[in-house]
Amino acid sequence: MAGMLPPHARPRSLSGMQPTSDSLHLGNYLGALVNWVELQESSEAFYFVADLHALTVPTDPEVVRRRTRVTAAQFIAGGVDPARSAVFCQSHLPQHAELGWVMNCITAFGEASRMTQFKDKVAKGQNANVGLFTYPMLMAADILMYDADRVPVGEDQRQHLEITRDLAQRFNQRFGETLRVPEPYILKETAKIMELSDPASKMSGSNSPEAGLILLSDEPARIAKKIKSAVTDAEREIRYDPEHKAGVSNLLVIESALTGVPLDSVEKSYDGLGYGALKTRVADVVVESVRPFQERMAELLGDPAELDRILAGGAERAGEVAEATVTRVFDAVGLLLPSRRGS
Ligand code: ATP
Ligand code: MG
Repeated sequence: MAGMLPPHARPRSLSGMQPTSDSLHLGNYLGALVNWVELQESSEAFYFVADLHALTVPTDPEVVRRRTRVTAAQFIAGGVDPARSAVFCQSHLPQHAELGWVMNCITAFGEASRMTQFKDKVAKGQNANVGLFTYPMLMAADILMYDADRVPVGEDQRQHLEITRDLAQRFNQRFGETLRVPEPYILKETAKIMELSDPASKMSGSNSPEAGLILLSDEPARIAKKIKSAVTDAEREIRYDPEHKAGVSNLLVIESALTGVPLDSVEKSYDGLGYGALKTRVADVVVESVRPFQERMAELLGDPAELDRILAGGAERAGEVAEATVTRVFDAVGLLLPSRRGS
């Protein structure tokens, strides 16, 4: 049985988000969640709260618990349908840590040291623990666990997907065809939403200052205030040019993504108008877009028992696939299978 990669009937999609802030932000939504929702139409989807990954940032236990439920609720409020897609917590399936260990053991130290997310987070002052260093290997395990064909993520995760592909290929070379090599699913324009207060940095749940982040849970007035204070540039022209006009381009991308109007049409619609008009309209668009989302959130968080039931159901579905993969991998590397894994 070693090395047998089973076929699956429908393509699979897999992705996760960390419960590292009190709400997902607009970057998580536009860069990833929108694509999760789209992919659940055409594929068998697995979407999880990356609570194990969140432990790489030291946080109060009560806060982790609260944020985990909020994150799951936000997946659903954003359009993930738990009847179609498995929605679950990473920590509910011990297989993630098990496969993560195997990934650690086939990763070179130098290879892990080249990961830019680790280097950036350390450079930004995050106190690095070993978990942060091995984050990409746990992420590789998350993806390879579900034989995922497509992984909808933001641009910041491209390098982690590359190492995931390398690890899958390396594993298959050493131990026989066991793991499916996944493809990234990263849409160009929305893949990197920038901080409002510093358009050279990506909007980040754990690193951006409050003023730079649009949280999906923010009150309308707060959203408007943040957008109106967004850093732009000293010119007057409204033009999509992410290299030279990162702040203005970021606002244009946000408006285009939320309204579905193509970027060049959004750009043209500002002919003769100034930055004040741009910020006012973008603020209106964001506020209108989050309104239904927030209403759905309130309902979901009002019924935590139902949310926990959804997470339990998701873990059960995901667990069947996860167990089969870990059994296949453990067997392939030569671990004796315990009786609970059936040999
Ligand atoms: P952290 O800063 O703690 O790493 P994060 O904001 O990057 O948090 P993650 O949970 O790491 O959030 O990422 C969840 C998903 O959101 C990933 O697919 C990631 O690529 C995507 N994402 C995160 N930030 C952005 C952004 N600014 N623009 C587009 N996509 C993003
Ligand atoms: Mg991140």
